[in-house]
Amino acid sequence: MNSTINIDLDGDRLREECGVFGVFGHADAAALTALGLHALQHRGQEAAGIVSFDGERFQTERRLGLVGDHFSSGKIIERLKGSMALGHVRYSTTGETILRNVQPMFAELASGGLAVAHNGNITNGLTLRRELISQGCICQSTSDTEVVLHLVARSQKSRMVERYIDALRSLEGAYALVALTNKKLIGARDPLGIRPLILGKLNDAYILCSETCALDIIGAKFVREVENGEVVVISEEGIESHRPFPRQPARPCIFEYIYFSRPDSVLGGRSIYEVRKAMGRQLALESPVAADVVVPIPDSGVPAALGFAQATGIPFELGIIRNHYVGRTFIEPTQTIRSLGVKLKHNANRAAVAGKRVVLIDDSIVRGTTSVKIVRMMYEAGAREVHMRISSPPIAHPDFYGIDTPEQTSLLAATHTLAEMRDYIGVASLAFLSVDGIYKAVGFEGRDAHRPQFTDHCFTGDYPTPLTDLTGERGKQQLSLLAEAG
Ligand code: SF4
Repeated sequence: MNSTINIDLDGDRLREECGVFGVFGHADAAALTALGLHALQHRGQEAAGIVSFDGERFQTERRLGLVGDHFSSGKIIERLKGSMALGHVRYSTTGETILRNVQPMFAELASGGLAVAHNGNITNGLTLRRELISQGCICQSTSDTEVVLHLVARSQKSRMVERYIDALRSLEGAYALVALTNKKLIGARDPLGIRPLILGKLNDAYILCSETCALDIIGAKFVREVENGEVVVISEEGIESHRPFPRQPARPCIFEYIYFSRPDSVLGGRSIYEVRKAMGRQLALESPVAADVVVPIPDSGVPAALGFAQATGIPFELGIIRNHYVGRTFIEPTQTIRSLGVKLKHNANRAAVAGKRVVLIDDSIVRGTTSVKIVRMMYEAGAREVHMRISSPPIAHPDFYGIDTPEQTSLLAATHTLAEMRDYIGVASLAFLSVDGIYKAVGFEGRDAHRPQFTDHCFTGDYPTPLTDLTGERGKQQLSLLAEAG
């Protein structure tokens, strides 16, 4: 019996919102930026843009779609002249998917041109934008990032760096922000360091980017991470480090380890791949199961499934085969598309699962819609029993820091008990890694309830910053706006 079912395994995932990449001091700055963005494509597939400066003029090229569709042609790269460039890949959480929302955002200010590229979400962005518009500002886009340009333009400070820092002081929420001026490349991380930002070096050129995998693709060396609350300024004079905010302990987003960052990236000195394997081992320790094969849900479930198989001794099998040549579609992240579960990307490998007790390993469950289809696919391929183990705790709270999460009411774990989730998905047993377990897998004894080492509120509901845009009447409006934009 043919066991093909139409499933889009990427349909029911949290989506990281964006990737940033900037170069200072290299003759091929734009070409390197295109390669860096290509390596960061998993952080955003909707649109990409590059701004360069050739000593006199800024050039901007922004396109909807994948980096490879537009920036692999020499013609566009040739137009992006200069030894300084800044790029961005985007997946929208705020602002529609239209060209005017594609980053980097650029404006000519009194003190010269300024381009900004942002990963994260400014949780008072809408409030700031409303104030700016009421004071006469003309916004070109509906993106929260444009607010930064207006705040820099309105600062009374003299030097561009001071104006930039002045603008940062007004921001709440999560940001890894990179800016390009006619003399400098400036990187900044929010006071908690929720989104990642890396400093690298290629010969005499410096790079600022979201993940180390973007350094690897161009053969650049890792220098260090930009610290939480730090502003790094790169210029002909070298590197300056500023600390404009009161010091506080870092709380980076733990989901970078679970799903967002590429397995070959290194974050906080830890290999993402090794941390995910450790999550699989910890999961096996906490929630063992009697099974014949361990089957990962590709691709992001693979490292945890390897760790689970190594810890239990149950054979690891590729029970689901991913078709990497489906051809690219420009995925509009609308509810309609998600519920359609388009395109045949994945298929059951009958030889690996027929007649077997299968334990499926995945990194997370959001709505659960895709898990239902996968489990049905396993049974239709002849599996005798299907169990599921998830290498992260249940996601019960929406994100407001740059991750596209559905309304809380659409989160399976926010509206179902564990037993109800098990029955809804149709498995014999279901278990999630505990919150302490995920901290252990990352290298801690457990979660420090007084000073949590990470931002983890999609599991704990412990939001680390004020959410100004989401308070009061306005908050309700914003929540519905967010739902519309999502
Ligand atoms: S809710 Fe927090 S931990 Fe979860 S993805 Fe967002 S920033 Fe990361």
